[in-house]
Amino acid sequence: MSSQPTTPAAAVPDRLEYDVIIVGGGCSGLAAATTCARAGLNTIVLERGKPGNKNVMGGVLYTKSTNDVYPEFWRDAPVERPVLEQNLWVLTPDSAVKVGYRSQKFGEQGDQPPNCFTVLRSRMDNWFAKQATTAGALIVPNTTVTEPIRDGSRVVGVRTSRPLGDVYAPVTIICEGVNPQLTQALGMQGEIETHDMSSCTKEVLALPPQVIQDRFHVVPGEGVTIELFGDSSAGMLGMGWIYTNRDTISIGIGVSLDDYIKSEITPYDMLQRLKAHPMVAPLVDGGEVREYSSHMIPEGGWRKLPQLYGDGVMVCGDAGMLVNAVHREGSNHATWSGKIAGETAIHAHEVRDFGKKTLAHYYHHLFKDVPTLQDLRKYRYAMEFPVKHRSVTNTYPDLASYAMREMLTMDGATKREKEFRILRQVLRARSIFGYVYDGLESLRMI
Ligand SMILES: Cc1cc2nc3c(=O)[nH]c(=O)nc-3n(C[C@H](O)[C@H](O)[C@H](O)COP(=O)(O)OP(=O)(O)OC[C@H]3O[C@@H](n4cnc5c(N)ncnc54)[C@H](O)[C@@H]3O)c2cc1C
Repeated sequence: MSSQPTTPAAAVPDRLEYDVIIVGGGCSGLAAATTCARAGLNTIVLERGKPGNKNVMGGVLYTKSTNDVYPEFWRDAPVERPVLEQNLWVLTPDSAVKVGYRSQKFGEQGDQPPNCFTVLRSRMDNWFAKQATTAGALIVPNTTVTEPIRDGSRVVGVRTSRPLGDVYAPVTIICEGVNPQLTQALGMQGEIETHDMSSCTKEVLALPPQVIQDRFHVVPGEGVTIELFGDSSAGMLGMGWIYTNRDTISIGIGVSLDDYIKSEITPYDMLQRLKAHPMVAPLVDGGEVREYSSHMIPEGGWRKLPQLYGDGVMVCGDAGMLVNAVHREGSNHATWSGKIAGETAIHAHEVRDFGKKTLAHYYHHLFKDVPTLQDLRKYRYAMEFPVKHRSVTNTYPDLASYAMREMLTMDGATKREKEFRILRQVLRARSIFGYVYDGLESLRMI
């Protein structure tokens, strides 16, 4: 390792030892690092790229979780726009049924910060990294952790891609994101199946702020999110999104990896298809591509949670499958899990015990202190339902569009006649038994 800031040159030790090792410098890793370093622990973060370079998010960043680690972050951090309006558009090839909610209460209200912000991870993660280093953590970029180092069942350090790059600590916090190779190497996570992953593709398109404001009907300092369901994923299981930033918009599409494998279409083509949709094209028209990225989201949820702690080790964020895909909550759980793992590491140092029993503190606090993680249990069947019932992505959007068009078209027919037409269409699309079944299954889902 080239960076040895805590070791005077005259006394190069046999091995690099820290109080805590953090693998990965994303939302969870940097929250863990900031927490540990602030408490005076000698903290090292090993990151295979540079913070922000390899991290992808839609990206809506929730204030509550971020504020818990970085108080009043929004006053200084490079956030884009506070989100005042959230929309869901159900698309067919030529229409959109739109549901939305806007409230000025989502913005800054006296000493109350906005509910959430749009962000670009390349900028945000750099800011998070700055907070961690200011607190005293060492972030070593361009360094991949290749394997855990164990003493019996206990994790005592990690091997890195650097020559003589073994690092030791009594506790290691794994924050390696969606591809949990170390967690798997430790036997804490099994094989991840393709239906538990969604593959996302995103572009950041530059547009003048005034154009963004005019198109999305906001003023400077206000932002909008639009989630796109139905035709956005071309019959496959997935969702698109458009989020407004200061002088860019983020547009993306995530589709079940399973469906991509079975289809002929590439993620790049899916995104271009979405950009060309008649409801979307006017919003992105003239946008110059600033960033193109692709990333996975782990969607296995509650039923695929790995073992989150062991002797000398804890697992956070996406590596721990702590994502609620239905409500696009991932960064908040990553941040909270990093914070709680950091607090557990501090506690372990206080009691000088790094065994599984002490680190169980992490698991208990995670599910006690982060109520939204309990949602994972509530939604444990959520991803199963649309996989089994493709009517959700195809039939229902078509029916919703048909019903709206019928009721809003003045063609001389009475409203009663129109209700009959809609009923006929509904009965043609699916059997009564099918609707009852879908209804019961969707109840089970929530
Ligand atoms: C397209 C997309 C849109 C999303 N939108 C939203 C959203 O709007 N709101 C929201 O809350 N969440 C969203 N999420 C989810 C959110 O981005 C993640 O839940 C969150 O980033 C997880 O943080 P993390 O720290 O666990 O992982 P990451 O942020 O992915 O960080 C993992 C880090 O570990 C590093 N790493 C991996 N392996 C190694 C290794 N062996 N050695 C060293 N370093 C390693 C990686 O380089 C990376 O920097 C989205 C995700 C995607 C993909």
